[in-house]
Amino acid sequence: MLVLGIESSCDETGVALYDTERGLIADQLHSQMAMHAEYGGVVPELASRDHIRRVRPLTDACLAEAGVSLQDIDAIAYTQGPGLGGALLVGASYANALAYGLGKPVIAVHHLEGHLLSPLLAEQRPDFPFLALLVSGGHTQIMAVRGVGQYEILGETLDDAAGEAFDKTAKLLGLPYPGGPLLSRLAEEGDPTRFELPRPMLHSANLDMSFSGLKTAVLMLSKQVEAEHGSIDEQARKDICRAFQEAIVEVLVSKCIKALKQTGMQRIVVAGGVGANKQLRAALDDATRRRQYQVFYPPLKLCTDNGAMIAFAGAMRLKYATPAGGFTVKPRWELSSLPAA
Ligand code: ATP
Ligand code: MG
Ligand code: FE
Repeated sequence: MLVLGIESSCDETGVALYDTERGLIADQLHSQMAMHAEYGGVVPELASRDHIRRVRPLTDACLAEAGVSLQDIDAIAYTQGPGLGGALLVGASYANALAYGLGKPVIAVHHLEGHLLSPLLAEQRPDFPFLALLVSGGHTQIMAVRGVGQYEILGETLDDAAGEAFDKTAKLLGLPYPGGPLLSRLAEEGDPTRFELPRPMLHSANLDMSFSGLKTAVLMLSKQVEAEHGSIDEQARKDICRAFQEAIVEVLVSKCIKALKQTGMQRIVVAGGVGANKQLRAALDDATRRRQYQVFYPPLKLCTDNGAMIAFAGAMRLKYATPAGGFTVKPRWELSSLPAA
């Protein structure tokens, strides 16, 4: 089975080909980051227009990369939601029109199911069941994953998502958009012992989290440093970035270990953009190794949005569950409402 995957939920146009026999055979991506940088954030209308421009050439590039033709495709998967309405509509219309023209089925994929299953595209693959830490720009959830379509949310952020906290904190520290990855690079050169920030909900009995207070704490800390030294120099900024990252990583890792203990599960996967964070990976590696749990990650370039995870989730739905079709988009869509396998 050869599945074409189309991702257009936000500011990345992703097109990929997943073959159930051969694996991922083509993966093309265009990020609109540079285009939105000028505005300090994603401009929805510009995003939609750019998806229209990119999706067809990216499909051609995929076919060329894999050495196949449109007629070889067995099904077309696209991101139905959640995401930006207009951006989603581009992928939905393109996928449906192409599928109709080719006489092939279309599979509507939940964007978070794509992220969630992306660790299965790595060389080291977990078996079901596993716990998942989904840490993306819009979501932060700990989930029990028992199979394709069997997702139970055990805990989640009560306010900002982890990626959102990275981006907003970066912005208030004056870092250019998109701030998250840049903040994390600066943090690597920061002193972890200079400043201490609060660990929100670290000791709460449940698996919920809260990150919006952290950015306020960073704001207060910056003001304090500025008052004491007259300005925030390069090193102080790196040290603040480090303090922020230390706090967020400690909370995420501690909640993961708590979830492993509570559920008795043995493995955990990390998915979503923040899963690319080096310090988070190192801390999770260490905490799981010491307690003899296993941890799995998607390939680094598949942590943030991409077409590969959508093609893969589409293929998994075809194989193990009822694939939903149809030409609609769902800008808001609860993952737990998906039908089970
Ligand atoms: P969602 O999937 O919830 O709809 P999204 O698609 O915008 O949101 P992703 O593409 O999974 O989110 O991830 C983007 C987020 O990951 C951004 O918030 C970005 O700052 C964050 N991110 C990417 N790389 C890193 C990193 N190395 N360290 C910390 N955060 C990172
Ligand atoms: Mg993005
Ligand atoms: Fe995403």
